[in-house]
Order: sequence, then structure tokens, then C-alpha cells
Amino acid sequence: MKFSRQTTLRAQATVAGVGVHSGLPVTLTLGPAPVDAGLIFVRTGLEGSDREIQATAEHVVATDLATVLGDRDGPLISTAEHVLAALRGMGVDNAVIEVDGPEVPIMDGSAAAFIAAIDQAGIVNQPAQRRFIQVLKPISVKMGDSFGEIRPYANGFRAEVEIDFTNPVIGQQSYGFDVSPERFRREVGRARTFGLMGDVARLWSAGYALGASFENTVVFDDERLLNTEGLRYADECARHKVLDVIGDLALAGLPLLGAYRSVRGGHKLNHAVLTALLADRTAWRVVEGEAARRTTRPVVEVGSGIVGGRIAAAYGPDVS
Ligand SMILES: [Zn+2]
Repeated sequence: MKFSRQTTLRAQATVAGVGVHSGLPVTLTLGPAPVDAGLIFVRTGLEGSDREIQATAEHVVATDLATVLGDRDGPLISTAEHVLAALRGMGVDNAVIEVDGPEVPIMDGSAAAFIAAIDQAGIVNQPAQRRFIQVLKPISVKMGDSFGEIRPYANGFRAEVEIDFTNPVIGQQSYGFDVSPERFRREVGRARTFGLMGDVARLWSAGYALGASFENTVVFDDERLLNTEGLRYADECARHKVLDVIGDLALAGLPLLGAYRSVRGGHKLNHAVLTALLADRTAWRVVEGEAARRTTRPVVEVGSGIVGGRIAAAYGPDVS
């Protein structure tokens, strides 16, 4: 499959589960969208008409426990990050994400169910070049102990995460890779949400995380992993953080050409770096071009004519 062109889904595919915060059943349907549509949430099941919201950074209204999108009428879709990660990670530019409740279903806490839905729907090329946001200079944000940075990168999109938990079972971990559909699927797609037992218990008593369970969260206490089935990867926590980064940065609205690094970060840091990048018009430009890896074909800077030079794409061909 060629990824030099924009892509969408061939058909619809549906996923049913529960919301991690409400614990209530919710159904999500992925479907096709036109060229340049981007990723669009449609909240159905409301009294009155459905509400649409573009998955972009300006629509982020909260980042405390998950990435929440909304508009001036209030929050609309919570826990947007894993389905966005699946779409961006698998190289889907344009899609409609219909959700009939206030939260994206948590499924098993990873992106696996959404990747399966994308596989079921199929990915098709569209008659337009893929467009990217190319990072032109480093942008960094420090928030307390957290540090995040996005910088120019010649080989597509790279996501790097370092975590450093005082909890000795999690401890220090790092993970990073140049994002391609193959590597996304294999290396981070199945990495689950994780938490500390003390925090989960506190959330439960405050009426949050009512849908959280060992079915969808990797839970640690101070001494051990509490899930009897064990981990999917030894460094599953760091890999899940990379998954979150890919989902949160999908809110750029276009695939990024750049390298992102997060140290002790989370949704709030990811959003802060993306917002700082987008706010600085000298730090990025929109380019479109052939997306084959290591290509030397020229790139068109939108609105500014042809810009020569070497550019690599965010997504290589879907082959191993
Ligand atoms: Zn997550």
C-alpha cells in the first residue's frame, strides 16, 4: 500500500465497550471521511442533533486524567487519545469517529481494538497528496519535573518517552521509535493504560474511574504488579506513554514531521508542547509530498511554491 496519498477507511467498523470514567456502555464507529477532512468526532445519542468536533488542539478542554475534547458548550468526548493514536499510528488521515456516549470506550486499555477495527474497515488511498506539519525549530516546555520538546527530524515522525516513577516496580523506563504503521502496531499498539493501586482507589472513592478494572488497566502496588496475567511487554508503561503521545499529537490536525521527547510527562505536557509549537508560526510549516521513506523527491510547501530538498515521511510503506 502506498502512503504518499491521503487515506481514509474503506468502510465502517464498530467497537463496543465501557467508558473508563463512567463505567457505562458506549459504542464507537469508525468510518470514511473526505480528503482534507482530518479526524472528526461525532457525538451521537444526544437529545437534539448530533454534535461534531474536529480532533484538534484548540478543542482540548481538559488533560487531567485523559485528553478531553469540547467546545464552548462544554466537554463532548473524553479519553480521545487511544483511538486517535490508532488512526494516526496506522496512517489514516481522514476519518469520522462516531461515539454514542461521553467517552471513547476504554476496551482493554490499549489501542488494539481500534487497530482491529481499522483492519476490518480497510485503508484506502484518496486522490490528494498527504499533508504534514513539518517542525522547523525546537520548541520545549518545562512543567515542574516534566520536560517536553519537539524538534526538527529528517526521518519522519519520532516519539520518545522517559518515565521515572518512585514506585520501584515501574521505576525508570524509556521507549522511542520512528513511527510507521508496522512498528506502531507491533511495538505500542497493545500497550495498556496503567496506574497505581492507591491512585485507582482514590479515584474510585471520588466517583471516577468507575469503569477501570484489571480488564483494562495494568495496576501496580508498591511491591508488585497486581494483574495476574502479567505484562505484555517488560516496558509496557513506557510504551503506553508513547501510544498516548501519538494520540495527543494527532491533535496537530496533520501528521507531524519532527521528533518529540517527553520526560516524566503526560497528556498535559503533550498538549502544552503541541500548543506552543502551533502558536509559533516560525516553528513549523505545512508541506505536502511523496511519503515514501527516504525519498529525495521535492516537497511542495503549501502556498509557497516548490521547496527542494530531502524529506522523509512519517509513514513508510506498510511492509515489514
Ligand atoms: Zn493512555
